[in-house]
Amino acid sequence: MRKLVGHLKNVGFPRIVEVSENARKKIRNILEGMECSSVILVTGKNVYKATASRIEERLEGLILRTIFVTSLKVGSVRKVEFEIGFEEVDGIVGVGGGRVLDFGKVLATEINVPFISIPSTASHDGIASPIASFRERGKPISISTDPPAAVLADITIIRNSPIRLVRSGYGDLISNVTAVKDWKLGKDVVGEEYNEVAASMALMPANLLLVEAERLDLKTPSHLELLVKGLILSGVTISLVGNSRPVSGAEHKFSHALDYLGYGKGTHGEQVGLGTIIMEYFHEKAYGIGDWELIKKSLEKIHAPTTAKEIGLTKEQLIEALEYAKKIRRKRYTILEDLNPTKNDFEIAIEKTGIV
Ligand SMILES: [Zn+2]
Repeated sequence: MRKLVGHLKNVGFPRIVEVSENARKKIRNILEGMECSSVILVTGKNVYKATASRIEERLEGLILRTIFVTSLKVGSVRKVEFEIGFEEVDGIVGVGGGRVLDFGKVLATEINVPFISIPSTASHDGIASPIASFRERGKPISISTDPPAAVLADITIIRNSPIRLVRSGYGDLISNVTAVKDWKLGKDVVGEEYNEVAASMALMPANLLLVEAERLDLKTPSHLELLVKGLILSGVTISLVGNSRPVSGAEHKFSHALDYLGYGKGTHGEQVGLGTIIMEYFHEKAYGIGDWELIKKSLEKIHAPTTAKEIGLTKEQLIEALEYAKKIRRKRYTILEDLNPTKNDFEIAIEKTGIV
């Protein structure tokens, strides 16, 4: 029996996690070890050409059908479920980016079979997390799922994915720095439950990369591997705590605000990366703990956006999103609830940090 924890219905961990140059080659063995002989391959059109078709070949005789994800709607998952209703499916293999993996996680949870995650890139911590981001009526929603049973992060595949996505992954990982500070504030100010192990798991990979800020390069194998492991750890941390607290604070509220308002053209990781600079500034200013300049420098070093303009935001939109962020998920205590910054405070922050 699984326990109910927080707002997540199922909590568990990936049993198998492999991060290596040839992780993809293990897929057949892993499925056989799990006694999966009739699986559905979930992928995307572009990823299929580049990668998934070869994984499909490798799994000859085990794949019932291949599904291409086109939209992230609960209705699309239900449609697939309806189509496979009478077929014996005992596993889902997802090969792709965030959308594909999110779709696969929800589908596997709904039909109660293991999900094997093979990320085609490392753009955010959804690779191993028990949360999927869907869109309903144009608005983003989060759905809690089972965590993947296995994660095969193939460095060769990820290295060849669009660099913008990998840079975004760094933004999502670095956001743990402010997320954990917010969590600590929640513990100190409103007596929130806190887990030191989970906080360390979320923070350590981010800090290890920050130490390297001066020579950070995501093409360096050790840096890329650390990023991928860090994103997997972030996902596992969510399972450990039962919610996204260790990896999502005020910087994520800001990113959600942009999504709700429909502003800009940044990826999730680019938005939270920018948000991290701003929230770290507030933490540093109020409590003397933090180093927003180091975070900004590391983002610059990997050529990730550090200004509003780079992700298509005007100053007015940026301010509006920051104000809107204060209204999101108010029960999650962050630096925004703590300081309740005014419009003027936001203006000073984004000017001092050079975001506008
Ligand atoms: Zn995130």
